[in-house]
Amino acid sequence: MKTIGLIGGMSWESSAIYYELINKQVKERLGGFHSAKCILISVDFAEIEKLQRNDDWAQLNTLMAQAAKQLEAAGADLIVLCTNTMHLCSEEISKQTTIPFLHIAEATSTKIKSVGLKKVALLGTKFTMEKEFYKKTLNNHDIEVIIPDEKDRDIIHSIIYKELVLGTILETSKEELKRIIKNLEIQGAQGIILGCTELPMLIKSGDVDLPILDTTTIHAESAVVQALKEEDNAS
Ligand code: GLU
Repeated sequence: MKTIGLIGGMSWESSAIYYELINKQVKERLGGFHSAKCILISVDFAEIEKLQRNDDWAQLNTLMAQAAKQLEAAGADLIVLCTNTMHLCSEEISKQTTIPFLHIAEATSTKIKSVGLKKVALLGTKFTMEKEFYKKTLNNHDIEVIIPDEKDRDIIHSIIYKELVLGTILETSKEELKRIIKNLEIQGAQGIILGCTELPMLIKSGDVDLPILDTTTIHAESAVVQALKEEDNAS
């Protein structure tokens, strides 16, 4: 089994979900007492959030690359960055490390293609919904992406930063999200990408009519597949 390197703390609420999912999936695949080999570098989200708010992506690049290099030095075989937004730093991470980097939007694109969807809606922070980095990855796989209107983007961003990353789950916010998803369905979305690793804390498959693409689960699953690859091939 390869050692999964996790860059977490953005927020720790979702990193805890990654940790649980990765271990559960290893146990499911290997059985018995098996659990995941992993290393976690967890940052202080207060520092990250401030730099995001100030649009200081140069410093964020530096911090993310530093964390990735620490993982590599500690013996990780692959890198999993446990947040969608911070994939804005993925190029810098790849540039400064030599081990594979498992891009969350690549893993999500593979999943979307495997279930045959062509047009999906992307929900996440305003960085993820509005900047090009995430949509571009999906578009490169011939997946059409729509996003909510500006007012609804503000609402989702505020739910993420004022509630979910602090561990607050509100029924009123869940209803808001369901309303936003209904609108996107009317606009032709065939599936909904929960493109923020905390969003699955609020909304799940079955809460809405459309298929849900939960990036936390998709990413954790792809990390386990990667970590067990050689064993799978050998068996
Ligand atoms: N975890 C979130 C994401 O997946 C948002 C928090 C962050 O800015 O990293 O985008």
